[in-house]
Amino acid sequence: MNLLSNKFPTKELQMRDAAHHMHPFTSQAELGEKGARVITHANGVFVYDSEGEEILDAMAGLWCVNIGYGRHELAEVAARQMKELSYYNTFFQTTHVPAIELAEKLAELAPYDLNHVFFAGSGSEANDTNIRLVRHYWALKGKPNKSVIISRKNAYHGSSIGSGSLGGMSAMHDQGGMPIPDIYHINQPNWWSEGGEMSPEDFGLACAQELEEKIKFLGVDRVAAFIAEPVQGAGGVIVAPDTYWPEVQRICDNYGILLIADEVICGFGRTGNWFGSQTLNIKPDIMTIAKGLSSGYQPIGGSIVSDEIESVIAQDEFNHGYTYSSHPVAAAVALENLRIIEDENIIGHVSNNVAPYLKESWQGLCEHPLVGEAKIVGMMGSIALTPNKEIRAPFKSDAGTVGYICRERCFANKLIMRHVGDRMIISPPLVITESEIDLLIRRANKALDETMEKLVNQGLMSL
Ligand SMILES: *Cc1c(COP(=O)(O)O)cnc(C)c1O
Repeated sequence: MNLLSNKFPTKELQMRDAAHHMHPFTSQAELGEKGARVITHANGVFVYDSEGEEILDAMAGLWCVNIGYGRHELAEVAARQMKELSYYNTFFQTTHVPAIELAEKLAELAPYDLNHVFFAGSGSEANDTNIRLVRHYWALKGKPNKSVIISRKNAYHGSSIGSGSLGGMSAMHDQGGMPIPDIYHINQPNWWSEGGEMSPEDFGLACAQELEEKIKFLGVDRVAAFIAEPVQGAGGVIVAPDTYWPEVQRICDNYGILLIADEVICGFGRTGNWFGSQTLNIKPDIMTIAKGLSSGYQPIGGSIVSDEIESVIAQDEFNHGYTYSSHPVAAAVALENLRIIEDENIIGHVSNNVAPYLKESWQGLCEHPLVGEAKIVGMMGSIALTPNKEIRAPFKSDAGTVGYICRERCFANKLIMRHVGDRMIISPPLVITESEIDLLIRRANKALDETMEKLVNQGLMSL
């Protein structure tokens, strides 16, 4: 392949990268010693590095490349849109066709009365919009004290100071003065590591009821909204017990608290429906979208809000917006992405074919001595690594030590899986085939074997 970007030896690229490029969520010193992996091109479910390795990307980039890599249709739409209208904004009573069409399309696809879209450049920006939107909504309704947003520990809602505050990642809160005021976190419904002696069902109910306790403690006149991912993604693909969501929904309805479903990962087919809210039977007032909205071909996100919220916000000027809200090129590319998902029936491919197939193979990993539980919803899955599955034991090492080893063994076997603590997670492109799933599982099994061998040698596990 004649590559546009790479005419250089890997070592040289790594040195130049370390000299000037600051990486997100990375220890820069460690990376400087090791050298970053240079990805040069990608196609379908595979990415290729500067050493010519073909790697199965079971994370779809960062959970976003839903239609797979290298679809030329999107490149062509982007080029055409750039030539026609490279940029214009929708501030101050202007608009353009890509924004009109994308908002209309999203209103059609979104469930219930979620019919209005505020665009952003990313999921983080969209969740920042949501913070201001729900507080302003209650202020306009004469309840300016309803400013608290309740979220969950170990949630991920983005990395800006607002969205990072909504998130419940303690490692993030430790840096840079988060969370901002009036954001509270309740426990996550992670039965494997936090359920203790309870049954999953009882634990799910107890976690949901923490929301009610928090509302009562703070006072209902203080609480604006609850935000959650239908399935926690970056927290480790944590699937709540079946009892959880019906109880959360009951509590939100009962107290009149707005429910924000962060669909940034779950949206656009990931769970086997257009939105995770449909799969889990949730009725949100606002949905956050990004990632799969454009399959990562362009940066774009947004908030889809209900008729009721829009009608209240419309009473006043909403003093909020980003230069790249409803960017015409990003909007045109997102529309083309949605067209492909629809025309090629990619969600049908997920729900009828590959999600059931992946589920069976993924759950089969539980037979491995190192794997305690396997969780999966649609095309997002996780396995918990443990030295003793009978008692759901953690490793003696710091959390994440074993997960990191396993991730390295995956990479060595040409498979990209991510680790969150000692959980391994996947979220492959939705267009993955059954034979590619077989390859994924073969490589995962090999990586697990090699990880276990290392653990036994290091005394972290005995057989
Ligand atoms: C990735 C993610 C975000 C943040 O989106 P960015 O585009 O990275 O800002 C928000 N919420 C969830 C659930 C995510 O997974």
